[in-house]
Amino acid sequence: MMLRAHKIELRINNKQATYFAKASGAARKAYNWALDEWQKQYQAGGHPTEAALRRQLNSIKRTEFPWMLEVTKNAPQMAIMQLGDAFKNFFAKRAKYPTFRKKWRDDRFTLTNDQFAVNESRIRIPHLGWVRMRESLRYTGKIVSATISRCAHKWFVSITVEMKKTATSIANENQVAVGVDLGLHHFATLSTGETITGPKPQKALMSRLRRLSRRLSRKLKGSNNRNKAKLKLARLHYRIGNIRCDAQHKITTRLVNDFNTIGIEDLHVKGMMRNRKLSRSIADMGFHEFRRQLEYKAPSAGVKLVVANRWYASSKTCSHCGEKIKSLSLSEREWTCGICFTRHDRDINAAKNLEHLAVSSTVSACGASSDGAITSVIASHGALKQESNVIAIYG
Ligand SMILES: [Zn+2]
Repeated sequence: MMLRAHKIELRINNKQATYFAKASGAARKAYNWALDEWQKQYQAGGHPTEAALRRQLNSIKRTEFPWMLEVTKNAPQMAIMQLGDAFKNFFAKRAKYPTFRKKWRDDRFTLTNDQFAVNESRIRIPHLGWVRMRESLRYTGKIVSATISRCAHKWFVSITVEMKKTATSIANENQVAVGVDLGLHHFATLSTGETITGPKPQKALMSRLRRLSRRLSRKLKGSNNRNKAKLKLARLHYRIGNIRCDAQHKITTRLVNDFNTIGIEDLHVKGMMRNRKLSRSIADMGFHEFRRQLEYKAPSAGVKLVVANRWYASSKTCSHCGEKIKSLSLSEREWTCGICFTRHDRDINAAKNLEHLAVSSTVSACGASSDGAITSVIASHGALKQESNVIAIYG
């Protein structure tokens, strides 16, 4: 079984927007109230639990927060359950200590599957009826929950679906490995020699982005105009992000379907020095998103993902004989190995090295696979030389 979430923009009217804001408010109030109670009870020597806090809130809701009754009871309930999860993650050292939710930044509420229904490109929400979605749900399977959230004055629903493992992921038994070199020249180069152009938001959008961020920096802090400019910028970032995100989903899904071992780099820093700050930060965001997608898609598809650390010299090592050259300037797209005289395309050679590294580290790491978790994190004291170049293996 694997969980997948699909985030879809909602097409709403004013009445619906008001309801969403109210329900998010109820969720935020409940979360913050419960966090405050948790801290008080803990300091008084108690052992707070989310279940007890939910009961406690229910008993005082009618008198203390009557407005909460105007929205789905899921909003406050699920928020307190999420606080329970946040504490669980904190105690397991997976996350920081929970913080209070803030208006605008944390406007969201969650519905359990008995509280809503999805039909084509509509979702039915308690007290509200059918709300239109900009697209229909991408996944089929048992619907688990839905979270409605606000981002830059738009509302979205993220629907979580439980899916059976796909046929492709099971058919993936034949041992095929691939290395992926990310860059600005091509978004990705595979060790098979294939290049993926990747997501490129139109030039017009990019120049608008530059203009808007320049304008924002000139506005007075705290002024109304600054807030307006901020919002405009957030919307544009969102639009560009969407174009990229969609294209990346296609690429990452294809990779986990076609290969069972994938080698990538931790962070792409090479080739970026020449670029202006903005295009660089955007590229960074793209690479992070690419890795994030692979990190969750690979384990559930039974694919091993090996992440090489940023000091691994994937470009400067000959993928044929292993010779490491001293320097390789950014402009050198091709080079010849002085030892074995193999002619290399810079990016393909890097991708091939990442493939070798991925294969050799999955063989030597032989960690037991636990679903979705990092199998082994190898620090620089790794037993094998190869391993010191790897920071994490997923799947
Ligand atoms: Zn060589």
